[in-house]
Amino acid sequence: MNTTALDILTSQFGYTEFRGQQEAIIQNVCEGQNTLVLMPTGGGKSLCYQIPALLLEGCTIVVSPLIALMEDQVIALRQNGVNAAFLNSSLSHVEVQNIESTLRAGQIDILYIAPERLIQPYTMQFLQQIKLNLFAIDEAHCVSQWGHDFRSDYLQLEQLAAFFPNVPRIALTATADQHTREDIIQRLSLSEGKQFISGFDRPNIQYRIHQKDNARHQLLRFIKHEHWQNTQHDCGVVYCLSRKRVESTAQWLQSKGLNALPYHAGLPMNLRSAHQQRFLREDSVIMVATVAFGMGIDKPDVRFVAHLDLPKSLEAYYQETGRAGRDGQPSTAWMVYGVQDVINLSKMLSSSQASDEFKRIERFKLDAMLGLCEVSSCRRQTLLQYFGDRLDQPCGNCDTCLNPPPTFEATVVSQKALSAIYRTDQRFGVNHLISVLLGENSEKIEQHLHHQLSVFGIGKELTQSQWRSVYRQLIARRLINVDVSGYGALQLDISCRALLRGDESISLRLETETLENVKKTKRSNIKPVKDKALWNELRALRKSIADELDVPAYVVFSDATLMDMIDRHPLTEEQMLAVNGVGENKLERFGEQFIRFFEEANTQSSEIDAVAINQQEILALCLSNMSVKDIAVQRNLSEQVVYKFLANSISTGALNLQQAVDLTEAELGQIEDALLMSDDLHEARFNYANVSTLLDGVFPTGVIRCVREHVLKTAL
Ligand code: ADP
Ligand code: ZN
Repeated sequence: MNTTALDILTSQFGYTEFRGQQEAIIQNVCEGQNTLVLMPTGGGKSLCYQIPALLLEGCTIVVSPLIALMEDQVIALRQNGVNAAFLNSSLSHVEVQNIESTLRAGQIDILYIAPERLIQPYTMQFLQQIKLNLFAIDEAHCVSQWGHDFRSDYLQLEQLAAFFPNVPRIALTATADQHTREDIIQRLSLSEGKQFISGFDRPNIQYRIHQKDNARHQLLRFIKHEHWQNTQHDCGVVYCLSRKRVESTAQWLQSKGLNALPYHAGLPMNLRSAHQQRFLREDSVIMVATVAFGMGIDKPDVRFVAHLDLPKSLEAYYQETGRAGRDGQPSTAWMVYGVQDVINLSKMLSSSQASDEFKRIERFKLDAMLGLCEVSSCRRQTLLQYFGDRLDQPCGNCDTCLNPPPTFEATVVSQKALSAIYRTDQRFGVNHLISVLLGENSEKIEQHLHHQLSVFGIGKELTQSQWRSVYRQLIARRLINVDVSGYGALQLDISCRALLRGDESISLRLETETLENVKKTKRSNIKPVKDKALWNELRALRKSIADELDVPAYVVFSDATLMDMIDRHPLTEEQMLAVNGVGENKLERFGEQFIRFFEEANTQSSEIDAVAINQQEILALCLSNMSVKDIAVQRNLSEQVVYKFLANSISTGALNLQQAVDLTEAELGQIEDALLMSDDLHEARFNYANVSTLLDGVFPTGVIRCVREHVLKTAL
């Protein structure tokens, strides 16, 4: 059977080898055994049931909680030539009947269905009459009340074992601690089955946590610096704690020219789903959202996840950051946090109505989260350790590995920080304490006579933000508590006595300025694409095909597949099949268009190579007033190519517009107006034909090209 599973992997999905435990899992499923799969996001869970579905006779039922996403999954499968369908409340009566009769005829291999639909008596009885080979329960942690996303509909899936005793079940999830796992096994009756637990590591995600100074500006700098340069526009998610912050952050990013959209539970349903749809379908949308967004979103090419507020627990942090880089390509998990975050979360916790036991657990989880923020060793090791996973060596791909934070002997400064709390009667928040230590003059200080205290002005050796960092770290280590019933006043914990008395010493991370941190961090985790221009044109081609089919771009080909194409420059069907992610079906559907694309790219690049060799001479010819026509004849090139070269020289500043083309003031104005009217002016794949038509074909495209470069350059 192995060869057959491998056959399907290559012919249908276009991949050459299995990943991790996929093969063993598929074998287990095909032998009719029950299975529990715990695999990190992006690990490749879907193939674990999709391949058995195609190998075994009959139909596989996939239970998936998110109606909105079912359709995209089914579309993606159909692109690979799989007979897939879905049943949910969005379908009309006629559509449902159609699916039912196709099912009866045995012509559907994979049926996606929402849990609430599946457990209806009608559906259960109907399915009794169909030959089923497998139930795949996706997001299986939803069955557990211990998990972080319990759904009561999932509980009813308990009935499956009794109703369909001869159909095996596979449960899949990316997050489940021991407790949740046991729950899944018990509720879905998997006890006699096998478990496949993969590690939690997501090596392609670079973890970075910075101290917050001006969160918005830091965010903008991060995105612009690493994910939104020139023609590179990556897709990402920005998480905020409150709806208000979601709205204001999205607006602010929009005002800075980024393609950002808000998403939170308070938006009208249709707007929310429109935004989600755009995020899924377009190439470069930045979704600013509360944590309401993201469950089950399996967009593979999310290049960054940014947190502007601290998540409540490491589970939440791991899940949310895990939405980056499902395709295995380098991605960034970026976060800023500050003292105020700790105070806010502590307040939320203490004001909740939950039991003391529950609050204690939550407090423990928050502490673990803070621990991750404050470690000076490898972040990944700390994160994995929390999930009971081990990484023997520091990872080399997190901020503390790339840019180890200096630590310093901090006993004396910690004593000062603690004394300031003590001397001011444990009634003040962090801002006031720091201004006492720095010896500042303020009304509040005078009013409380704090300038007369022995601690007044004794902390001038550190800056304000360094003091913040000291306080944060002391809070993270539970030497200081936050009085959440008051106004965030800091109070001494009994455990700080030894330190205050000088019986213990302490060393802390020394915070260098944030901007520097960003700069020093190895600039890009993102693999440089070999040929940026080609990459953008390739993405544009993919987008136009996807738009025509009305499917998300990644359904046509993933980013990883496009990158592999750039490496291989496939010019024949055989070469195209060798590209990772191109199976026979996709070859048939899209192969020709992409092969043609590379043929054209090849001729263009050989022309451009020729120009590159001659570039000095051409520049010299142009500067000596020779016309484009004459240059083309002399160098044996097309006029188009000569213009392209001149346009390049304009963009680099080697040439100015007047030297390149011969236009009157009025003509120039005419072309500029036409250019400014087109909304794709900044796109790599600018449509010259439109502008040319607008100008009644009076000017050669090459001239328009030169003017465009001039406009782009002077407008900046
Ligand atoms: P999960 O559901 O575990 O988050 P998916 O099943 O969505 O992950 O797979 C993540 C990505 O990895 C998809 O783009 C998928 O096509 C790809 N993938 C899965 N298995 C393989 C494999 N054996 N070789 C190459 N790519 C794979
Ligand atoms: Zn590391």
